[in-house]
Amino acid sequence: MQHSVEFLLSVVSAAQFPAPRLPEIAFLGRSNVGKSSLLNALAGARAARVSSTPGRTRAINFFSVSNRQRVPKMVFADLPGYGYAKISKSISATWPAFIEPYLAERATLALCVCLVDANVPPRDNDRQLFDWLRARDRAFLAVATKVDRSSGNQRVRSLVALQRDLGLDEILPVSAKTRDGIPDLWRRIAKAAAME
Ligand code: GDP
Repeated sequence: MQHSVEFLLSVVSAAQFPAPRLPEIAFLGRSNVGKSSLLNALAGARAARVSSTPGRTRAINFFSVSNRQRVPKMVFADLPGYGYAKISKSISATWPAFIEPYLAERATLALCVCLVDANVPPRDNDRQLFDWLRARDRAFLAVATKVDRSSGNQRVRSLVALQRDLGLDEILPVSAKTRDGIPDLWRRIAKAAAME
């Protein structure tokens, strides 16, 4: 898809959220799940460079996504990775307090893209995130990252296990490395942003 993605701003409190105008797509996942790499694959080098800047990892980083005519069409919200502290089991213990209100109340939030590593069994905090989104009726898309690390039966088995363990209707396999699944993900994002 012919989109351009430009960094907008980095936000560390609810007071700083940009005015809710365009549909927003939020990206969520445990630290190290491959979120920066995926944003990079979706958007080009600029996005990931910004989101990996030290000090911005506890912030929501907003990006403006424009179409071929350079008309802004949607906003990406890159949320901080959760579960960084090894001992912490809950999302909220490692997440700044303003993240939950964002997910609960943001009127323009069209889709939560929730990333899980295709090669790692899900953790409690992944389950909590999906349960939390379901309880609030938030639209989400589960995405399995780094699928290039396995192949054939092993890949299928781990995807089926993830789907079952997390109680998901579907899980979209992607690789930032090989770009497998990236066009599919773009299509799902564009569809959600069009509020179809
Ligand atoms: P983040 O903490 O969620 O932003 O994760 P990163 O994007 O920084 O990636 C974490 C690690 O996983 C890095 O070592 C990446 O090189 C690796 N990684 C990310 N995406 C892929 C992928 O699609 N395939 C493979 N093989 N490795 C990946």
